[in-house]
Amino acid sequence: MSPELESGQVSPIATQREVTRLASLRRVHDAFAWFRAHDREIADFQMRLTSVPAPPFHEQDRSDWYREELRKLGFLPVEQDDLGNVFAVYPGANPDAPLLAVSAHLDTVFPPDVQIQVKREYNRLFGPGISDNGAGLTALWSVASVLRYCGFQLKTPVLFLANVGEEGEGDLRGFRYVFAQEHWRSRISQVLVLDGAGVDTIVAQALGSRRFEVRVSGPGGHSWSDFGAPNPIVALARAIAALGELELPLDPKTTLNIGTIEGGTSVNTIPESAAMRVDVRSAATSEIDRLEDDLRETVAAAVAETQREARESKKKLTLSVEVVGNRPAAELRSDAPIMAVLRAVDEQIGIRSHIHRASTDANIPLSLGIDAAAIGAGGTGGGAHTLHEWYDPAGRDRALKRILLVILALAGVNEP
Ligand SMILES: [Zn+2]
Repeated sequence: MSPELESGQVSPIATQREVTRLASLRRVHDAFAWFRAHDREIADFQMRLTSVPAPPFHEQDRSDWYREELRKLGFLPVEQDDLGNVFAVYPGANPDAPLLAVSAHLDTVFPPDVQIQVKREYNRLFGPGISDNGAGLTALWSVASVLRYCGFQLKTPVLFLANVGEEGEGDLRGFRYVFAQEHWRSRISQVLVLDGAGVDTIVAQALGSRRFEVRVSGPGGHSWSDFGAPNPIVALARAIAALGELELPLDPKTTLNIGTIEGGTSVNTIPESAAMRVDVRSAATSEIDRLEDDLRETVAAAVAETQREARESKKKLTLSVEVVGNRPAAELRSDAPIMAVLRAVDEQIGIRSHIHRASTDANIPLSLGIDAAAIGAGGTGGGAHTLHEWYDPAGRDRALKRILLVILALAGVNEP
């Protein structure tokens, strides 16, 4: 880390001065020129990457592919862990200094049976996952390429990390695994997450979420001959109606969504089971805890009520509420060097950015007290999580410059 930023006591003026100095370096100008000259190769990389499938829990092919691409850049060794997270370290003059990690997630939301077709029409790229997170993985590779191509001499090492398990059911398992290992947790002091398109947001507040599967089961039976047995669908419907009545705080913003329901066998069968998936989010973990208690109480009351009303009182309903996803809520400290540097870099290149709250890989380090922020990888994108996802690289080089300057300012550059 550069001396001005080392103490953690960052002065915005000193940070701005350091960023301005960095932006004026000959080598940095060369790097900017490299981005402009290689926009076609960068887009080609993104298309090749996107065509390697990476369904949740099956990221191995893309993980192997990405490791190979980093090897081709001359990173040695490029490590890969049991889950498929890929690690490459760009060296620094002080090898024992805390690491800045720059990451992008490898996984997509698309299951293995989805045919991935990638194409280019005029300048626009199309394909499932092309932007989320083809854009982030491409920016990671581009910046790693330019550091090597220009031969930057950094003061502290930078870890390039392509990780698995960010999306939905993956539940941040890639980052959880990395930060569960002492070897990495003790060395990584800051994390910059690259996710999706755009340049104008900084995710510095981790949105907490918890997901539940609620299942009501019963003996089931024939609609005529077993009539009177308690009906799991009725219990679930009663629970849903009651959940809809819960008062949720506006501040901190807290939400509850019933995303899916399922159950039943046929129209003339008393169902044996009915289930729903519920997503609870809040800016504050304490509200998530409170809402979990409310949820458990509400569904238990609905099941009990349905049981009470059943004519066949010996036939019993059972209830299970299982946590199927859990992301902690947390916030970047306001005096974090990564925030001061992002602000100064945005000032330098004329980006008007705003702070957002979202659920990203940054949740994990933030919840452990490690500074982290997530930013976009430039260009524009749309149709995320659909088969019609697209990405337009126009203006991408602004984001690449931004990412490069942030890395250089945080890692420090040895330059005469
Ligand atoms: Zn993403």
